[in-house]
Order: sequence, then structure tokens, then C-alpha cells
Amino acid sequence: MQPTAVKERDPAAPRGDGDALLATLDTPAMRQFRRFKEAHPGCLLFFRMGDFYELFGEDAVQAHRALGITLTERTKGVPMAGVPFHAAEPYLRKLVEQGFRVAVCDQIQDPKDAKGVVDRAVTRVVTPGTLVDEHLLDDARSNLVAAVSVGTAPTAGGDPPAAIALIELSTGAFHLHEVAASELADRLDRLAPQELLVAADPAGAPPPWVAPIATALPCPPTLRPGWTFAPEDAESRLREHFGVASLAGFGIDAATPVAAAAGALLRYVEEISAGDASGRRIAHLQPPRRAVRAGILEVDAVALRALEVERTARSGGSSGTLLELMQRGRTPMGRRLLREWLCFPLQDLGAIRSRHRRVALLCEDRTLADRVREALARIQDLARIGGRLGLGRATPRDLAALARSIEHARRLCDELDSVAAFAESAEALAAGLAEVEALAQRCSAAIVEHPPSHLRDGGAIADGVDAALDEARGLSRDGAAWLARHQAELAEQSGIPSLKIGFNRVFGYYIEITNAHRERIPAGFERRQTLKNAERYVTATLLEFEEKVLTAESRALERERVLFDELSAAWRPHLGALAKLGEAIAELDVLAGFAEVASEYHWVEPEMDEAPRLEVEQGRHPVLDRLLRDRFVPNDAHLGAVERADEGVGDGAAASLALITGPNMAGKSTYIRQVALLVLLAHAGSFVPAARARIGRCDRIFTRIGAADELHAGQSTFMVEMSETANLLRHATARSVVVLDEIGRGTSTLDGLSLAWGIAEALAERGCRTLLATHYHELTELAMRHPAVRNLHVAVREWGDRIVFLHRIEQGRTDRSYGIHVARLAGVPEAVVARAQEILGSLEVRSTAEAAAIDAPPAPRQRSHAAAAQASLFDAPAEPAWLGEFRQLDLDATTPLQAFDLLRRWKSKA
Ligand code: ADP
Repeated sequence: MQPTAVKERDPAAPRGDGDALLATLDTPAMRQFRRFKEAHPGCLLFFRMGDFYELFGEDAVQAHRALGITLTERTKGVPMAGVPFHAAEPYLRKLVEQGFRVAVCDQIQDPKDAKGVVDRAVTRVVTPGTLVDEHLLDDARSNLVAAVSVGTAPTAGGDPPAAIALIELSTGAFHLHEVAASELADRLDRLAPQELLVAADPAGAPPPWVAPIATALPCPPTLRPGWTFAPEDAESRLREHFGVASLAGFGIDAATPVAAAAGALLRYVEEISAGDASGRRIAHLQPPRRAVRAGILEVDAVALRALEVERTARSGGSSGTLLELMQRGRTPMGRRLLREWLCFPLQDLGAIRSRHRRVALLCEDRTLADRVREALARIQDLARIGGRLGLGRATPRDLAALARSIEHARRLCDELDSVAAFAESAEALAAGLAEVEALAQRCSAAIVEHPPSHLRDGGAIADGVDAALDEARGLSRDGAAWLARHQAELAEQSGIPSLKIGFNRVFGYYIEITNAHRERIPAGFERRQTLKNAERYVTATLLEFEEKVLTAESRALERERVLFDELSAAWRPHLGALAKLGEAIAELDVLAGFAEVASEYHWVEPEMDEAPRLEVEQGRHPVLDRLLRDRFVPNDAHLGAVERADEGVGDGAAASLALITGPNMAGKSTYIRQVALLVLLAHAGSFVPAARARIGRCDRIFTRIGAADELHAGQSTFMVEMSETANLLRHATARSVVVLDEIGRGTSTLDGLSLAWGIAEALAERGCRTLLATHYHELTELAMRHPAVRNLHVAVREWGDRIVFLHRIEQGRTDRSYGIHVARLAGVPEAVVARAQEILGSLEVRSTAEAAAIDAPPAPRQRSHAAAAQASLFDAPAEPAWLGEFRQLDLDATTPLQAFDLLRRWKSKA
């Protein structure tokens, strides 16, 4: 396997000679080891030996590096490392977090019964994207494995179609996304699978589309045999698994990338699950669902990062993000769904309004909201318990939790039953409950209230459920009473009051007599064990008893296992209903969380319609507002369909683009992010932090905001900025919302300004709602020339030679950047600040004089001297040649590289 990006501990890193040494060992156990190793290529093999899972050869070397466990040597220098079997989980977790796949090989036979080497089997395969064990999973995040297939381009040089199939094995969810190949990296970034399967080419190398986007992928891809992606194999896998004659019912066309990805993924997941010794099928896997593009408000990965939805730009952490602020989920299912709602908001107004209505109702009716939240808080992870049931890995505690959760789901359903706004939710709950309630009752009757965590510990099934179990248990329980009686009798007969009957695993039942009474041992006592102060004996009666009791105990355990398996199996046909019930609960949970946030922080319901406008009064940045509390200054925003009387120019047409000027630190970025976040929140179904908001349906949110993580491999900041800009210019529509921060900053002032001008003009013409924060005061001239453009600035108060940031957005432009003031605030030494002030003074005098000399045409309105100097760029009577060229430039048809070349040429001419 050829790794695409080798990290230090990459599971796909080349292996050393440990395996060659291993091959020289030819014992029966090593032969067995090698068989499992071959059956699970690409996996580390945890090989159970006694109380340890041992790793051999290169597996041991890799585990030693990844886990820091001691590396030892076995015969002939074969590397070996091990972890205690009872504490293996944390090690497994660490390994999968680092991208390893692990096959766990257990002893499936009591070593006592083994003739020769003990029987072993791989009982589970643990891979990063297919985790199902509760303690290996984060309950607020989905754990996904994805497969990607890219088709052939419809036209030479066109963008080929591609598909991503995703399975969440822990819940059985199966989703399909169809995208253009150029969108793959972005979509994968947002879906964030933990494991990514791609087809190896005949030479065993990754497909050609991987290399250019390798660094943008959420995890290094795992190569799978190419034939598993072949249409015929994929189609037959899907048909066979779901027992259907054709894929049409799933809306899948057999010869497409989507079928290939789905089939290849299904095969992989089946292989992993077949590792289970019981060979159970994935009973809980739901039929694949296709994501409907038209219903989603697209917020690409760049925008999600810029708006700090899931991670902050600076640290990449979750603290201080929108997701953290909004996370009120009472159930793990709700916590996972919130991420999906925020990263994939809706565009369908009906669905959005339905969410808003329900949030509004929960805000108004506090009693109902409290009851709903209380019921939710007692519902456990139905989706993942369903998953474990489907894989035959559920525990007694899972069934008990399931039964209890379903009782609370019933309460939830009853609460909502009579509330009109929740009719649909109540219906979904009722439908799910109708199918699973009887079974849940059966479980709660059959399982004790506080069951053991493992079936093997016994005592999971309640008394009175099964006659055979009761009988076997009776024997062992009666046995305890019998033992007590027998001990008393023996003590009396022998005259040894301290005589005790005990039990241990090695010797079974025994009678213990201290050495003080050694003389009085009755006849028929047979010595078994000598301790320091006592001797242990058995008698024929005791041995007979032992035989009866011990077999009764194992009979009881065996019976429990059978009953438990029956109960688990009874769920299998209802796992689909259970999954749907889980979905309905998750949705209520997110809505209840939205209502909680809205009530607590006084957010309002946004009015939403089809008009491409945006009107926000007293809007706040959701996260910063909580951080600064009373100190946060709310601001209005009006874009699209707004009268423009303020500038004294224009014809009252809609202004869709606002240019925001103001010094550094004034609050420009905060403002533009805040507006985008409000749009996102409203489309996710949440209320928004404002006094009033009216938001027209939006199809995509674009951002171009500088962030700390811009140092992409091999790309300059400017290049990244221009590629992002090119992307938004290509795709923004009249329905899109665009926020741009300091566009054109990474190049010379003239280049940057010219580009910013061209970009702003293009966006204004397209009519997308745009906020553009800029340093280029010259750009404010655009408002005089383009009816869709208006100027805003952030208010600053001067205080002697100091400034105070008011963080208030006001109409019109500003003509000072206060850079020197900000430098002083930042602690630049006073002497340097004073010198800068001096230089600025002389520069200003010079440019005023020059401006007077060229006799610039009358300015459209009163301008300050500085602005006049700057404006000469666009007002000069003889337009420089490059500007004409610039005007002609069709930005939509210009690649970033071409743009860069043009700039270089203009610059050299200048
Ligand atoms: P700019 O983009 O103009 O350089 P920022 O938006 O980064 O400025 O804001 C700088 C700082 O000002 C923020 O970190 C925040 O502390 C504060 N700030 C911004 N907007 C507001 C506001 N509306 N109310 C209160 N403080 C604000």
C-alpha cells in the first residue's frame, strides 16, 4: 500500500524487518497468528495469550511507538509488546485515534479444554470510522466511514461527477452525497468522516484525484481493492444486503459513482462486522438516503471556519464557537444532530418555519418546555443502542436503558400530543412507539433494574421470567442456605466452633480448620490445602454438593444467555422503527435547546420570506455578545430592497452591497461575521440575537475572511485569498450572502485596491447581499458610482490624540484609518508613534498640494484632503491604460493565476 501522506505514526507507514523475523518462528501458535494476520491485512493484530493481548513483529514496533508500551524480544529477536486484556480499551482508543485499524483476536476455548493450541477467533475489528463500543465513541460526534468514487467527465476537461457514501456503523445511518469532483474536498471536510475509502488503481496506488486534494482531506485515505468499486459488484452487494431487485427504490442509478461508492462501502463494513465471531449481519443498517442539494443552505468549509461554527480560527478548539454556545442537547442524539443542523442549514422555507414555530412555542410555554427537557434528559442513546443490537453487541445495561428510555419517550409523546405545532413530532414519536413499546415492556419485565455490565457476570434476567432459570438459580440459592446449615452441623458435631466452609476457584468448596483444633479433625475429612495457621479439607458430602451447585450456576448462566439473545434478536426486525424514534427525539432535543438559548439570551424569531433582503435591528454577534455581556454594542444591518436616501445620491434602488470602513479594532470583522451568523442561525431553525430580523431565503453563504490557518502548503496568503474569491465569484447568486474582510490585502496597495474594486463591482451587479470590510478608503467612491453600493463606517471618538472605539456602525464613510492611534493602543513606543505622526503630517501636506496641482474635477461631495488625494486614482481625467484593461477584465472568466499574471504586468508598467 502506497501511503499518500506519511506522518510519523501513520498506520500505512512502511514496515521494518520485524515481520521477517516473525516469519522464522514456526510454532503452532505463530502459525495460527499468521493465519489471522493474513485474513486481516492492514490491521494490527491483538493476539490474546493468557491475561495479555500480545502484538508481534512490526505490529509490536508500531504499537510501541504509538502507545509508548514496552517493546520486548521473543525467541530469535522477534519484537513483541503487550497490553493487559482487562485494560485494553484505552489502548484501542489511542490506536484508532491515530488512524490504526486493529483486529482483536480472542481465545474462544477454555485453555483447560484445549488439545494443543487453544482455539482463537477475531472477535472484532476496530477501525477509526466503524467504532461501535460506547467507551470508544464521543457521544456528541458521529463516527463515520466514507467511500468516495469519482466518475468520468461528461466532456473532456469538465468537472466529473463524484459521490460520497457514508455509514455510521454505531447507528446504522447510511447517507449518499452526490457532488462535482471539484467539490469533494470541501464536502468531505464538512462531513468529517474518520475513515475514508478509495479505490486503488491496478498498480495499488491511490486514484489520481487524491493527490491534489490530499492535504484538504479529513483523514488519510485507506486504499481498497479497485474491484470493490466496480459497478457490478457494488450493485449486487446493495441488492443482496437490502433484499431488493433493483436500486431504483433508493433513487440510485446502478452505473453511477454513487452506486459504486455505496457498494464498496457496504462491502467494507460487512467485512469488518464479519470479524465478529458470531458472523452476524448488520441488522440495523438503514437503506441509503440521498442528500437533497436544493434543500440545503450551502455553507462551505471555508465559511464554517471563518464564522467559527465548530472550531475557532485561532486555536482550532471548540471553546468560543457557535456550536459550543448552542449546545444544550439533553440526549447524545440531539448533541450530534445539532452539529448537522448548524453545518447544513436549510433552504426550504416551509421546513425552516416549522422549526421556528416549534421553538417559539417552547419559548412561550415554559411549563411544556420544562417537561419536554426533563423527559429528554432521561432518554439515552437509542440510536447507538440500536446499533449494538444490530451487531449483536448489546449488553444487559443497554436493554435496561432502552426500556427505560422508551417509557420516557412515551411521556414526551403524551406531552406533545395535544400541541398543534408539534403534531408532526408527536406523530413520529407515536408511530415509533407503537412498534417498539411492547418489546420495551418485555425487556423491562425481563431485565433486573440494575443489571451487571456483562452478561457473563450473571444476574441480568429477573426472577420469575423463566422457569428453567428460576430452578437453576433456586438450586444455587438454596445451596447457600444448605451450606450455612451444614457448617453449623459440622461445627457442633466436631466441637470446633470456628470451623468454616469457604470457596475458591482452584479448590472449590472446602472446610477450613485452624491449627489449634488439628487434633479434633473428624473422620472422612480429606486434606486439600495447608495454610500458615489452618488446613483445608473436603468431604464426600461437600463434593457432591459442589457438583450440584456449580452445574446449576453454569446452567443458570447459560439459560440467561439464551434468554438475553432471544430478547436482543426480537429487536432486530424493529431496529428501523427504533432509529426513526431516535431521529424524532433528536430533533425535539435540538429544538428544545434552541428554545432554551432563545429564552435565556433574549433572541427573536426571524421573519423569513423569499425576498432577497436582510434587515436586522440591534443585531448581536452570538458568541461575543455572551462574552462581553452588557459591553457588546448591537448594530443594525440593511441589505437589499433598502431606500438609499442617506448618501444623497442614487435613485432609491436596492443597495445590496455595504462597504464598511473604520480603523483596525473598530469591530468590522465582528460586524460582518455577525450578520452571516444570523443568516446561518435563522436558516438552521434557530432564533437570532437581535431586536428584530427579517431575512430573505439564502442559497449559500460565502466568506473571505483572513484567518490564522491560511498557510496552506505551497500557497501564499494572496493566492489563497484569490482562490477563495474566484470560487465565490463563480458561484454566488442573487440569493447568496457574501462577507469579505480586507479583500486584496496580500498584494501592493494599487493591485489590492483595483482587485477589491473589481470584485465589489461584480458582486454589486449580481445583487448578492454583500458586506465588505475594507481599509481602502478609495473604495468608498464606488457608492457614488454604483446604485447597489452604500457606505457604512464604524464610529470612533477622538479624545485629544487618543481614540475610543464605539463599535457602532453608522451610515456613510470614514476617511481616516487611525492606524497610528491603534499602534499607540497596542503599545508601540511613544517616540516611534510621535515620529510616525510627524511623517503622516508631512505626507498629508504633500498630497494635498499634489491634488491641487492636477486640478482634479469637482468631487461629488465635500471630501477631506486625504480622501481627495486618494480619489485622484479614479477621478484623474486621463485614465491610465491599465485601468481600461482592468475594466474590460471579466473576473468570472479569470483564474487566480491569470489574475496574478495581469497584476504583475500592470505593476511592471506602473
Ligand atoms: P476590526 O475587524 O475592525 O479590526 P474586530 O471586529 O476584530 O475589529 O473587533 C476588535 C475587537 O473589538 C473585538 O475583539 C471585540 O472585543 C471588540 N468589538 C467588536 N465589535 C464590538 C461590538 N459590537 N461591541 C463591543 N465590542 C466589540
